[in-house]
Amino acid sequence: MTRIRDNILEVIILKRFLYTAFIFAFMFMFDINICKADVKEDAASANVVSGGALSVSDTNEHTVKIGIGEEYALLGEQDISGHNVKCESSDESIASVSDDGIVHGIAKGKTVITIYTDDVKSEYNIAVKNKGFPYPSYEIFKGETLRIRFNGSDKVIKWHTDNKKIADVKKGYVTALKKGNAKITAYTENAVYSMDIKVVPAKKSVIYLTFDDGPSLTSTPKILNILKKNDVKATFFVLNYDSVGEKLIKREAKEGHTVAIHGYSHDYGAIYKSEKAYMNNLNKLQNKLYKTIGHRTWITRFPGGSSNLVSRHYSRGIMRKLVKTVDKNGYAYFDWNVSSGDAGDVHTSGQVYRNVTRGLRKKRANVVLMHDFSGNTKTINALNAIIKYGKSHGYEFRTISDSTAQVHHNVQN
Ligand SMILES: [Zn+2]
Repeated sequence: MTRIRDNILEVIILKRFLYTAFIFAFMFMFDINICKADVKEDAASANVVSGGALSVSDTNEHTVKIGIGEEYALLGEQDISGHNVKCESSDESIASVSDDGIVHGIAKGKTVITIYTDDVKSEYNIAVKNKGFPYPSYEIFKGETLRIRFNGSDKVIKWHTDNKKIADVKKGYVTALKKGNAKITAYTENAVYSMDIKVVPAKKSVIYLTFDDGPSLTSTPKILNILKKNDVKATFFVLNYDSVGEKLIKREAKEGHTVAIHGYSHDYGAIYKSEKAYMNNLNKLQNKLYKTIGHRTWITRFPGGSSNLVSRHYSRGIMRKLVKTVDKNGYAYFDWNVSSGDAGDVHTSGQVYRNVTRGLRKKRANVVLMHDFSGNTKTINALNAIIKYGKSHGYEFRTISDSTAQVHHNVQN
């Protein structure tokens, strides 16, 4: 904590120095004279506490812009011991504030921080921007590795963990080693970001239910209802959607499921003709989803899977290139190791049930391929029984997340 504080102070001192230097340069250039009255007025409007008490920083006239996870010390480097300081945030879900005036960005939005220093009240407008960490805290299962995609142009210079035994960090990859809590810090040139990591123990037999090719008005709501009734979370690999689909995707996200990318288009001929065409198809849906659900999703599944042979007709060897390119661009792709067969020659819910339950293996991550395309009643009718089977046989249902180990097929093209 002291190291973080030291760093924040360095940043603030540097920022203040640059700010002051800039003002002086500006005054010099335009030969501006400030009379005493002006100074006094400025000080009053900036709410500076006088009389040897604590002073609040000179930023409170303005909106302080911070990122998600960013730590910003509103009281700067002052020693607050012996003073009566109280801090409040009007919206704790946007930014929290500790009693020593350190603001922590939580989610995109605006909040007002009020600081009472020896009964003098100061207010700060805080705007949390979508930069820095994707989230301010993360719960991770022991044994998993979380890849942190740092947002924005700020480059991380140094990563740090306050407890190597619980969670270690290297170049933005956090490995969960032992049950407990750790704080991961990212230092950039301009700021300090921190993220709370909670490592929780996990069952080894896991089922990830995944639904491809949605959303659809006929299937998706029914699947969501069954999942809700059973308190099971799943992952939806979606295609491009209209305004009706948008509502369904919002519902998926709201009910705790993972919304992931299948592709803007599923047209093999169009998407597998070149690497550029494929990446455009992927990025286009990521951008659209960002507007719908408010965060960037990096979880994806190739149409046809990474082992597909159909892409050979359009570009030889493209899958070998794509598996590397998607990773380099920040994405994580998931194939499956249990297939329901519901997009192939399976026609009854009994067959879907048998394919899934016979494909499950204990003590591994079972990624189950199913579909929520229009009219897929066989899967809808089998879903309840599949969930009951999983629960009664000791499996844990989870969503695919940024820390889930990827399940890959062998690439064949
Ligand atoms: Zn598909």
